[in-house]
Amino acid sequence: MVDPSYTPIDEVQKIHASLQASFKSGKARDIKYRKHQLLQLAYLLKDNKDRFNEAAKQDLGRSYAENEILELYVSLEQIKYIFDNFEKWTKPESVELSIYFGARPRIRKEPKGVVLIFVPFNYPIMLLMSPLAGAIAAGNAACVKVSELLPATSSLLVELFPKYLDPSLYCVVNGDVAVSTKLLELPWDHILYTGSGRVGKIVAEAAAKHLTPITLELGGKCPTIVDPRVNLKVAAKRILWGRTSNAGQTCVAPDYVLIPKDGEEDFIAALKETYLEFYPKGTKEPGTIARLPNRGNFDRVKRLLDDTKGTVVLGGDTDRETKYVAPTIVRDVRFDDSLMSEEIFAPILPIVPVNDFDEAIEFINARDHPLALYIFTDDSKLKEKVFSNTRSGSCVCNEVVLQIPTPGLPFGGFGASGNGGYHTGKYSFDIFTHQRSTLTMPNWMEIALAARYPPFSDKKSRMVESLSSPSFPPRDSVLNPRGWWRKWVVACLTLGVSLLWAQRRKLIAH
Ligand code: NAD
Repeated sequence: MVDPSYTPIDEVQKIHASLQASFKSGKARDIKYRKHQLLQLAYLLKDNKDRFNEAAKQDLGRSYAENEILELYVSLEQIKYIFDNFEKWTKPESVELSIYFGARPRIRKEPKGVVLIFVPFNYPIMLLMSPLAGAIAAGNAACVKVSELLPATSSLLVELFPKYLDPSLYCVVNGDVAVSTKLLELPWDHILYTGSGRVGKIVAEAAAKHLTPITLELGGKCPTIVDPRVNLKVAAKRILWGRTSNAGQTCVAPDYVLIPKDGEEDFIAALKETYLEFYPKGTKEPGTIARLPNRGNFDRVKRLLDDTKGTVVLGGDTDRETKYVAPTIVRDVRFDDSLMSEEIFAPILPIVPVNDFDEAIEFINARDHPLALYIFTDDSKLKEKVFSNTRSGSCVCNEVVLQIPTPGLPFGGFGASGNGGYHTGKYSFDIFTHQRSTLTMPNWMEIALAARYPPFSDKKSRMVESLSSPSFPPRDSVLNPRGWWRKWVVACLTLGVSLLWAQRRKLIAH
């Protein structure tokens, strides 16, 4: 039976047309209106906290506490930051002084228009609220496609959106691939897609047909290098937390650990000790660890686990009925193992022994650029080596996941893990803002600009040259700066000696 909260396919085009018409009315540009809608967004969450907790429990088996920490408070903080600050971000920006100063060059911060936001299943609130707050603050109309894998959460959003937000400018669309495909046929002014790389390619192809700008927030495998000289207990705590929160279904969760062979034993001991502290009664009881969203995801993960050639040293239990996967540690995993073939997206942590850190870096560099890369070490030279010799969306030392909520840091992928950065504050505003260049040229500027008109003459050419032909330091001054200075010193000395000589010979007057 089709979920009653699904949007009928033939409604999709009407929604798009209606959002376009409302955007053109200019209502969304009013600052007071934007502020009010942002407040409404916050109250949509605050007033219905328990209902969202209950929905997350039904959809993903998440405990109330975990849902509040991972989704609700983070979202409220992001809305609050944008609410408090966006007004100053909307002000036109002056540019550096130039010969065009008389034309008052400015960058106007304009809304892109009607934007489409795709939300994945793993963080259905945070990954909706954070971009939507940015889109509202920037003055856009927005259509949000929620995940069909979460019937309780998505139908709650369908119910609450029109009660809290202006439905003429902000709407939720729920549905499966057919609805998504219909949405992608339409010409949006920006698409922000968060989800898998597989669907990301479909989105990029559809957007290209209309030359729609896109931001892709994708996934992939996030490597974690562990230096065995570090405090292994702290490292184990942070890594196990990142791997097991939301049942490992976090785009920036540590996906696998690369550790020099001689450190593997001690690190596994620290992980086992931490596991007992985190879950003294195990994880089978509902509410201790989240579940996977559907059987399809469960079967995929189970296949990866069944095919591993590594040794399971902790966990390994699964239950298809309840879509449960226990926190699992697999040791002696090789580079070509099933667990290394794709993003795991479950609470399974493969430990991959390496000969040294160079081998770890080489392995990472031979694959897609990850969304996040982690290194646990107290050795600043090793940290710098990893930071400087790899590429990834973010790179974090001695911590996991917390780069996302850290204010001021853009969050996004690189290459196969996506492009563009948002999540915190101004970055969420910027991706939905068109930086529009403006000039207002006064007539008196003809004095400076007349040389551009024909007929051209030597006098005009000289004028243009003096105004706009920049001078550069000597061509070898960058690669051979000492040589350049030496030449200057030799030239000055030669000049000085020549002047002295000329004076002595009375060739020049005193
Ligand atoms: P998904 O790609 O299956 O779905 C995401 C969205 O795309 C959903 O709204 C879905 O309805 C829609 N969709 C699915 N199939 C489609 C199709 N054929 N055509 C058009 N639209 C389609 O992703 P998911 O399983 O919900 O989420 C998990 C993935 O998202 C993981 O890879 C994870 O790493 C990634 N992710 C990335 C970030 C990030 O910020 N970079 C955050 C969360 C999740």
